[in-house]
This record gives sequence, structure tokens and C-alpha cells, in this order.
Amino acid sequence: MFHQLYYFVLLILPIFIRAQEKPIALIGTIILPDKSIDNGTVLIFDRYIKAVGTNIFIPNDAIIVHTNGVILPGLIDLHNHLTWNILPRWKPVEEFGSRYDWQKKAIYRTLLQSPHKALIDAGLSCEMQRYAEVKAITQGVTSLIGSLRQPCNRGLARNLDDDSTLGKILYDVFPLLMTDMKLKETNEVLSSNGTLLIHLAEGSPNDATAAMEFLTLKARGLLRPGVSLIHGVALKQNDFRDMANASVGFIWSPRSNLALYGDTANLEAALESRVITAIAPDWSPTGSDGLLSELNYATTWNGGLEHSLFDDHLLLDMATINPAKLVHLEKRLGALKEGYLADVLVLQFNSDHNKFNPYWTATHSTPEDVLLVLIDGEAVYGNPQLMTQLVESKNLESLDICGVEKSISFASQNASQTSFRQTEKLLSNALRHFSRTLAPLSYCGK
Ligand SMILES: [Zn+2]
Repeated sequence: MFHQLYYFVLLILPIFIRAQEKPIALIGTIILPDKSIDNGTVLIFDRYIKAVGTNIFIPNDAIIVHTNGVILPGLIDLHNHLTWNILPRWKPVEEFGSRYDWQKKAIYRTLLQSPHKALIDAGLSCEMQRYAEVKAITQGVTSLIGSLRQPCNRGLARNLDDDSTLGKILYDVFPLLMTDMKLKETNEVLSSNGTLLIHLAEGSPNDATAAMEFLTLKARGLLRPGVSLIHGVALKQNDFRDMANASVGFIWSPRSNLALYGDTANLEAALESRVITAIAPDWSPTGSDGLLSELNYATTWNGGLEHSLFDDHLLLDMATINPAKLVHLEKRLGALKEGYLADVLVLQFNSDHNKFNPYWTATHSTPEDVLLVLIDGEAVYGNPQLMTQLVESKNLESLDICGVEKSISFASQNASQTSFRQTEKLLSNALRHFSRTLAPLSYCGK
């Protein structure tokens, strides 16, 4: 009982302490769920969006920030393996049949598995997690999945699978091996509005093992609402139809798929069948450094098709409202609306053939373009000029992102901890024992 109370206090206390004292009014071009508006305002107070629009009342004590940028919901990453993102990019020289093939390779063990395990064994998992969260935030992410779920400091990003206030989200890598007991528990979670995100049919489109997994999933009774399938490269058109009929979602990771298997899922079938689809990077060794880069990758992939499958608006939905829907949070996250949690991204306006287009900006930005990231109503990252208006200078640490200075604040975590530079140093030194270097936060221009 004592322990329960203790954890309750730990969970609840930071919420009260963390609330921003003054309202924040962000002014710029705003991407709303169905349109964009110029010169609009997003008013934020006490963790929530209080109002959005062109003609809203701004309280006298509000901090007014003229962003001159595009204001959109923070990106939601439903598929990542965070601690692996400290490791440099791995460029396999061959294509694999399925995930089971590359995991057997000595090169995978040498470059990724051994150093990862050694750093975990050395007690550095919280530092690995911290580095990966910062990496995600520099890519516009405000909510993510794939944390370690162990007692590190409260995450700087919103850790969806480790936040009991947001409903139960199960995240499984190899769920088909789950015991009957685990299956029973999973079904109970799904029956109480929880969700399950699972890797499935990860391999080349013709790989039999990968294709078999969908049949196993059905046989185990898991083709049901609340479930979303990750990867699905080997899924056929009929499988996507079955998914749509069962209200099962899909999480697409094109870059990692193409790097490992030379192909990606049948996105056309997913979209035609109206399966709710989200996009996510998987991990940075074979996927993108983060969601902004994955959006760029997806637009390039889409542009190379004979008939493009989506426009910039739909692609942005795949990183905002669609992932929110898949974890049953579409009434709290994934859009800029009154009453929603204040997770906000601001990007520098970019022009598409000399035409300013906010949706094009959202899907073609690089980490240098991130002007501001607010999580739970608090500014955590952005350009120094904007961050200094919202956070005390003593709480800001400087980061270099592809030659552009950015500022980060860990003040919202409400815990004294080492600087980010020290975290980087600790991880670099530990990796040196394996002749590995720490992956940069961003592979600039790659
Ligand atoms: Zn994965």
C-alpha cells in the first residue's frame, strides 16, 4: 500500500508542479484538422489548448510568441525501439527474407546487438533512452512508443506506453509467441478500450514465414478492434480488407522495410481498404532518425510511383491524427483543438515552387527547420530566440543540429540530472569499447 501511494504521488505531483504559470499565445499559420489558417493563434494554458482561431481572446498576462512559422500538432511515433537509436546507421549489403534472417547474422550481432546489450548491462539504459527521446523531439515528435518502461526519470517526450493516464497500450515485438495466459490478459485489455500494437508479417512480400503470421494472428483471435499491425510487408490485398472489416489499424515503416527487405507494404491496398494507417520510423539504424525524416522519405517514395498514393495532407494525418486514433487518443492528441493536450510543433515556413504551403512544409522539413516543440504545454525544444521567451535561460542547454543552434530544456522533468552533453559523453565512452561511435542526433542531409 505504501508503495502504491508513493508511486501515485510520484505520478501526480509533477503534473501540478509542471503547469506553465502564464498562458502562451502562439501566432502563425495554423494547421487545423480540415484546413489551415493564416495569422491564427493557439492559446495554451495549464497543459491544454484553450482556444484556436483567428479571432480569439488573449489574456493580458499571456506570453505572445510570433513564430512566423507553421503551427501543427506534435508528431506521434507509434513504432520505435528507442534505446537502439544511439547506434549508427546500419546499411546491410544484402536484402533479407524476414526479420528472423537478419537477426541470425553475425554482422547484426557485432554492429548492433552486442553493443546494445553491453550498454544495457552496464546500467546505461536510462541514458540511452534520454538520448533517443531528444533525438525524436528534434524531429518534431511529442508522443512516442518503445520506451523501456523502467524507472528512469519521467520522459521528456510523452511516453504513450508508460502513461497510465492515457489508457493501456500494449506494444509487442513478437506477440505470436505469447502464452495463453498473456493472450487472455491481452484480450482483457482490448475489451476495456486498450490497444495492442504488434510487429507482423515483417519480411519480403513473398516470404512465407512472414505471410503465415497473419493466419496465426487470426487463429489466436487477435484480428479485432484495438489491434494495429506494424510492418505488414507480406500482407496481401485480402488481408488488408480483413483488417478494415475488423477495424484493425496499420503502422507503416517504409524506410526500414526498404533497407532490410528491398520492398515495403502494399500501402495502396491499405489505403483503398480504408485501414487507418500511421507512419513511424521503426528505429534509426535502418529507418529514419525520426518522424520528420520519415515523412520526407515517404514523399520521395510516393513521388517515384507511377500513380502517387497520397498527398501532403494525408501523409501528415498519418503522423498526427491517425496514430492518435490507433491508440484511442484522438479526442486528446493529434490535432490542434480546444481541450486537447498541448503538444505542439512549429516549423519554419518552406516554399514549394515559390508557393507557401503549410502541408508541404510539414512533410518536407528537416530538423534544422524545427522552431519550437511544446509537450504538455511546456516548451522543451526549439530555436533559442523562441525558447528564451518561454523558458528561463538557466534551464536551457544548447544543441547543434546540422550547424543550426537549438535549445533544449529538461525543466519539465522536475528532477535534477546531468546535462545532455554529459549523457552524450557517457554513451560515447561506453561505445568506444566496441569500436562503435554514438549516432549523431541527425544525419544531416542524408
Ligand atoms: Zn520494430
